[in-house]
Amino acid sequence: MSQLSRALVLFSGGQDSSVCLAWALARYDQVETVGFDYGQRHGVEMAQRQIVRQELIANFPEWSRRLGDDHVVDITGFGALGQTAMTEDRAFEITEKGLPNTFVPGRNLVFLTYAAALADRRGQSVLVGGMCETDFSGYPDCRRDSLDALQTALNMGMAQDFSIETPLMWLTKAQTWELAKGLGGEDLVALILEHSHTCYRGERDQRKPWGYGCGTCPACALRVRGYEDWDAAGRVAIEA
Ligand code: ZN
Repeated sequence: MSQLSRALVLFSGGQDSSVCLAWALARYDQVETVGFDYGQRHGVEMAQRQIVRQELIANFPEWSRRLGDDHVVDITGFGALGQTAMTEDRAFEITEKGLPNTFVPGRNLVFLTYAAALADRRGQSVLVGGMCETDFSGYPDCRRDSLDALQTALNMGMAQDFSIETPLMWLTKAQTWELAKGLGGEDLVALILEHSHTCYRGERDQRKPWGYGCGTCPACALRVRGYEDWDAAGRVAIEA
């Protein structure tokens, strides 16, 4: 009797975690998703993540059988640290690390620790996250070294054998589009373009070639450049 493989995907509704969800659905027998409410400035991500799930179910029957429950974990208390613990009053701005200044250091470590506790209860052995060193080199909790250390700590502290999988770790944003196409063809690319949400400012007014967003915040800038690089390459395989 073979055991079903079960994975839990950290799923924000952004481009990266949408590709990660598809990646997991192509690989594991049962896949659930977890999102974190850390007091985001806008509810767009939380709305879009449900739409991405629904569109995957509607358009990919093979995957719809594998896609299980969604979980939303309230960590607004942790998120509030980013609002209240700064040493001076500052407006919303993007730091030199390319993240909003309201983000709390170690955010991904907290996400994965909550996810591991949930996975323990749900019988999942694989945690999947969209962390990436290629474009976010300044953010230390996205580094594979940090995640290897966390994986060791979680497994020791929870008497588990979790594996933290990060399929985007060494990919550029252009290569992430290529991965999406390889997983689900142009249908998946179109779904992610239309429904995933990356913009820090929550803008979804006008559809651009690369999707929705303000086009200027760091998250949009990465998305625009990655899409344009991929599109300009004629949507042919980009060397990994
Ligand atoms: Zn934006």
